[in-house]
Amino acid sequence: MLNEKMYGLGSKRSIIREIFEYCKSRAKEIGADKVFDFSIGNPSVPAPKEINEAICELVRNESAVLLHGYTSAQGDLGVRQAIANEINERFGAGVNENSIYMTCGAAASLTISLKALLNPGDECVVFAPFFTEYRVFVENAGGTLVVSEPMAKTFQIDIKDLEDKITEKTRAIIVNSPNNPSGVVYSEETIKALCSVLEKKQREYGAPIYLIADEPYRELVFDGIKVPYLMNYYDNTIVCYSYSKALSLPGERIGYIAVSPKAQDSQRVYLAVCGAGRSLGYVCAPSLFQQVIKKTIGAKVDVNIYKENRDILYGALTEYGYECVSPDGAFYLFVKALEEDAYKFFEKAKSKEILVVPCDDFGVKGYVRIAYCVDKERIVNALPAFKALYEEYATLGSNQCALKTK
Ligand code: PLP
Repeated sequence: MLNEKMYGLGSKRSIIREIFEYCKSRAKEIGADKVFDFSIGNPSVPAPKEINEAICELVRNESAVLLHGYTSAQGDLGVRQAIANEINERFGAGVNENSIYMTCGAAASLTISLKALLNPGDECVVFAPFFTEYRVFVENAGGTLVVSEPMAKTFQIDIKDLEDKITEKTRAIIVNSPNNPSGVVYSEETIKALCSVLEKKQREYGAPIYLIADEPYRELVFDGIKVPYLMNYYDNTIVCYSYSKALSLPGERIGYIAVSPKAQDSQRVYLAVCGAGRSLGYVCAPSLFQQVIKKTIGAKVDVNIYKENRDILYGALTEYGYECVSPDGAFYLFVKALEEDAYKFFEKAKSKEILVVPCDDFGVKGYVRIAYCVDKERIVNALPAFKALYEEYATLGSNQCALKTK
């Protein structure tokens, strides 16, 4: 007998992966330049040059043990110290090496954190729209996913709805800002309101509620927007960070968990993180990349490249008449489908070789996600097809109500 739940997960790819695979095979049929693939969040901006330089230098000068050997289960001490220093310099959060656990990216950071915090039957609240894998991660940790609905149009957190969703079983809340798939950055005002609800509910139920900050997109923000550092707003915070998007290194699988030193029983939480990492087999994140991160602290990708893509796409689509959520960060545009059923809209877009992701699985119906982490050329070349698609809906008059009145 197999574990049927695992079989189910393995035999059905996520919708993003399905569309991505389709794009690859379609590109073979008609040529890659004719397929407007906006499906997957694979960074298009190159990693900073410091990364390759650091790899070369390390490989040339360091011992095989440092490069390829096991580190401590929670990560190399010097690496954790360097990361803790950086967090303290940037945010004054007062973390130290015993607050940091090195991981294979945000997915591992989240699965470990959830495993550390949840007991069977506990609830974890997420905010729609949310990264589809949260459901898998929460359920794998024995928890139940509870979805809090967003504010209409702005897609900020609806504080009233959150308050209604928290129960005595709520043990964790996941906040992802900048958000995948909306590109929204939660404002400081929203964060303060969220934290005061959590404080109130902790007091009411007499038990901690942990705030998990899922932060792979923290560095990808435009126009000087600031992303509040949640440890500075709420004590029971665990940050799940990743270099996948921040440094364009998704294939290297490197990130970390930072437990706030101000969390209730902070060291016990940290040891539960260590235990969860152990039980999941997520010990010793890749050694070479731990060292690369230490050597390149402060390196940045050029976010202006994403900003230019965003400006072109957002500007053109809103001019044609599409309703788009204004994105301050990440590399996604969240667009209202031109008919109620986002899957039907997806099919019509597909017939024009535009591949976007219907967002029902992200917890919001009637929207699609456009991942604009692609070459600018692809965006520019796709614009006539987006325009034709809009005009087709307008001409057909089908579901006119879904079209924005100009
Ligand atoms: N969280 C969010 C919101 C994401 O969008 C992603 C990846 O796209 C992840 C977590 C997983 O990131 P990683 O590749 O670092 O595991």
